[in-house]
Amino acid sequence: MTLPLTLEEIAEGTEKELKIRKYVECETCDGTGAEGGMSGNNYAMCPKCDGTGELRQVSRSVFGQFVNVQACPRCDGDGRIIEDACGDCGGDGRVERDETISVNVPAGVMEGNYLTLSGGGNAGVRGGPAGDLRIEIEEKPHDDFVRDGLDIYHDVYLSIPEAALGTEVEVPTLDGRARLEIDPGVQGGKILRMRDRGIPDLEGAGRGDQMNRIHVWTPSTLTDEEEEMMRELRGRENFQPQPSEPNTEKSFFERVSDVFS
Ligand SMILES: [Zn+2]
Ligand SMILES: [Zn+2]
Repeated sequence: MTLPLTLEEIAEGTEKELKIRKYVECETCDGTGAEGGMSGNNYAMCPKCDGTGELRQVSRSVFGQFVNVQACPRCDGDGRIIEDACGDCGGDGRVERDETISVNVPAGVMEGNYLTLSGGGNAGVRGGPAGDLRIEIEEKPHDDFVRDGLDIYHDVYLSIPEAALGTEVEVPTLDGRARLEIDPGVQGGKILRMRDRGIPDLEGAGRGDQMNRIHVWTPSTLTDEEEEMMRELRGRENFQPQPSEPNTEKSFFERVSDVFS
């Protein structure tokens, strides 16, 4: 079964209640499958195998004598059969039921991880060992963030004047809202890193970062007055792109290596 989690839950770790339908031990017969359970006297020796639980078949050939041993199909190798089967489980020793289980999810899990609850699966037939319950983690898509390993990416949109003049914006983080200072002259595509605001490592080795990716928003319609201002700015020297000039934005590849080093 799958367990959908938000990025906030993944970052903090969480405890979740899960409703599952599974086989549990039949309480009426203590899982024995016999009417009256442990205290009853409803077992009889299996007539097919005489209580040994095995069937032996001897065959002879030119190579000698072969003894073939197999589990008795009548008693499933138990050597005993139930004379009066439990009415609640029909002799299976287990019944299907809705159960609510509580699952502890450690911080830092990711999509596709499995949590295995040992013995949390279906009860075995007639008191046999229970199976494991495997829960697959599913990451819910987030409105504000895209996860990349331990880091999360957030898109920040600035107007052209904001990018040119610098500003302070409020950004969401996994721990609530935070202020982000934007220097004058920021270029679109620049990534402003907030340390330790990402996803914690599953094994406790630190925490990822929040990468705020700057976008400069270009208006798609302009009034006559705005168009006039833009035409006036277009010719100005400071508005000519100079991507190779020192102290301006690094090239795309330099920037990428910065981010991932
Ligand atoms: Zn029963
Ligand atoms: Zn038998």
